[in-house]
Amino acid sequence: MNEDLIKIRRFLKERLQRDYTTLHGHEMERENVRQLLLRTAELGESNSLLLIGPRGSGKTTLINAVLADLVPSADFQQNTILVHLNGNLHTDDKLALKSITVQMQLENAANGKAFGSFAENLAFLLACLKSGNKRSKSVIFILEEFDLFCSHHNQTLLYNLFDVSQSAQAPICVLGATCRLDVIELLEKRVKSRFSHRQIFLFPTANTFETYLDRFETLLSIPHEKELKQAAERVSQLKLLNSDELTIHRNHFNPAKYKFNKKYIESWNNSIAVLIDDNKSAVVAALQTFFEIDKSESFLKVLLFRLVAQLDPNSQPRITAEQVCEIIATYTVDPRVELLCGLSVLELCLVIAIKHHSEIYDRDPFNFEIIFARFAKFAKVSTTMQGIERAVSLKAFERLRHMEMILPISSVVGKVQKDFEMHRLALTYGQINDAVQKYQALPTEVAQWAQSSII
Ligand code: ATP
Ligand code: MG
Repeated sequence: MNEDLIKIRRFLKERLQRDYTTLHGHEMERENVRQLLLRTAELGESNSLLLIGPRGSGKTTLINAVLADLVPSADFQQNTILVHLNGNLHTDDKLALKSITVQMQLENAANGKAFGSFAENLAFLLACLKSGNKRSKSVIFILEEFDLFCSHHNQTLLYNLFDVSQSAQAPICVLGATCRLDVIELLEKRVKSRFSHRQIFLFPTANTFETYLDRFETLLSIPHEKELKQAAERVSQLKLLNSDELTIHRNHFNPAKYKFNKKYIESWNNSIAVLIDDNKSAVVAALQTFFEIDKSESFLKVLLFRLVAQLDPNSQPRITAEQVCEIIATYTVDPRVELLCGLSVLELCLVIAIKHHSEIYDRDPFNFEIIFARFAKFAKVSTTMQGIERAVSLKAFERLRHMEMILPISSVVGKVQKDFEMHRLALTYGQINDAVQKYQALPTEVAQWAQSSII
């Protein structure tokens, strides 16, 4: 067994799935968020901020990356508490408050106390943080799926958080992440007026194809020992975070587990580099297609995961060019061609007859009579299609119509006899040719007939 390969496969899979803190690009936005959190932690400033961007644009990754930067500093650890809320989990304000209490480790203090209102409860929690004569700890609230909190009754949670953040009761920072661009419109007036209106928009980085190829290579390569060590240190420091609801240190990808054989790594990294070495190679062309479908990093990661998952010490020890092309081809299939490949041979023969008719008469409409006459001529000389009854062919013709491969041209249904109703073709010749080539076990004579209408 090839132990090295198994290790590499596990490493790459884990990194592709669970590396939440490595952010690529977005330097400005990252620095902004960092500064904001730092000011809350060190100076006790209160702030609120919304991070807005489409799904998979890296909002969560950005927040985690910033936290991973900040958390190792002892100062930050002493002065701040992190509270993670998620709109999908905390579906009403009561649940949210409960979770806030737990994450602030104040269950004991709040136990058995009765609070009149939400605001009182929150004020109590924040007051608990003011220990002795020292200034209060700062709290950073991270609200994932922020838009969902807007549908809570009276938006009480948001109102209170924003109210505290702008009235200097206690140093808190409210950081929301959402994929709704119109999120500000969802806020009630009194909530909106308490929000600082700081918004950061994250859009998928307008990558060039060169950087995309670069990402392809980096994400599949194994880093050198030194880098691995650094990454491992970062992760181990993340473990110091206090909150146990934090996603980033639960199950976080930990490179410390991996020790690689140097020689094998070198040859592995080489094999990856060779894939995209030549600008005119098939892999680069395929990746270009893939890039044009979707430029986002998350989409690329899914592709890479599929590649890595296929690695196998016995049959597939390296990622090969054919494999990359094959997987990318599955993203570009034409559903009409797939549909054509699922037809019976008789139905496909009718489609071919329609194609010949359309080619000869410049896409003139046709009816069943015309097509059947053409098909019958072929059937007479063929060995496989002989003796097919007219009624059976009509049924097949109707099925083509059901699947909308041919469309009736008049809207009046039922006036004309079925055999004479005029139709037009709703496929391109290219699609038909592709299907004929791809069709499994198509009789040779049919394939030949598809090429030329002369029998
Ligand atoms: P959602 O709105 O669904 O919460 P999100 O904006 O939080 O999406 P993430 O979960 O951060 O998106 O990112 C999705 C995937 O894309 C992750 O695997 C992440 O690593 C990757 N990703 C997206 N953008 C980047 C980037 N700039 N750098 C590194 N990885 C990225
Ligand atoms: Mg997210």
